Amino acid sequence: MMDDESREAYEHLLAQRRELIAGRLADSARRAGRDPSEVLMLAVSKTVGIDEVVCAHRAGYDAFGENRPQELRRKVEAIAGMPEMQGVRYDMIGNLQTNKINQVIGCAHLIHSVSSLHLAEAISRRAVTSRVVVPVLLEVNVSGEASKSGLALGEARAALDAVMGLPGLDPKGLMTMAPAHEPQAARSTFAGLRALRDTMRTDSGLPLEVLSCGMSDDFGIAVEEGSTLVRLGRIVFDPTYDLGV
Ligand SMILES: *Cc1c(COP(=O)(O)O)cnc(C)c1O
Repeated sequence: MMDDESREAYEHLLAQRRELIAGRLADSARRAGRDPSEVLMLAVSKTVGIDEVVCAHRAGYDAFGENRPQELRRKVEAIAGMPEMQGVRYDMIGNLQTNKINQVIGCAHLIHSVSSLHLAEAISRRAVTSRVVVPVLLEVNVSGEASKSGLALGEARAALDAVMGLPGLDPKGLMTMAPAHEPQAARSTFAGLRALRDTMRTDSGLPLEVLSCGMSDDFGIAVEEGSTLVRLGRIVFDPTYDLGV
């Protein structure tokens, strides 16, 4: 638990940083002729606790992401009883195993990490049983790195066709992770995701309006290449993250 003084100081730090991040995001958007309000800043709270999440909300964030199902559920349940946290959304952004789907159904606002048809089918079954429709993104391994999860570029279009035939799923767009510390490779990864989305949009007739890409180190590039949702962890929460100011 944080005491009031450290809470206030942390909240102040987060608010200052948020202004800086939002300014950079807006610059990137304008460079690409885009409206900055098209891009959502999702605060990835996987390394922090509830107190820090509440501080972040006070500092202006109202969309959060977690990469572990149990932790997502824990945080969603913790904020459910807090009047000031009403209207806050929590997204599932990390690797999801079929035996953990129950943790996130009805809890996650959006599941970013539908990385296989097998997983899509399992979520569909759970959604039907729970009588809910689950908004999802297909995670695509655009860069083709063996270490990354996600559908292969060549299988994504067929996967969307299959997902459109499954009840209880509402495909909203695509998600990807770019190679770390390689700005050029990151840029072509984000551009590839957008190009794939454009093709899939024509194929399917769905708007597929969400492109979830860009993290602390590369969100500016992602916004230049069309991202509509940047997933920001360290740059939001880690006081030691170097913003270069
Ligand atoms: C942790 C995480 C992020 C945030 O990464 P940072 O580099 O800390 O901004 C984004 N997406 C996913 C899937 C993550 O697990």
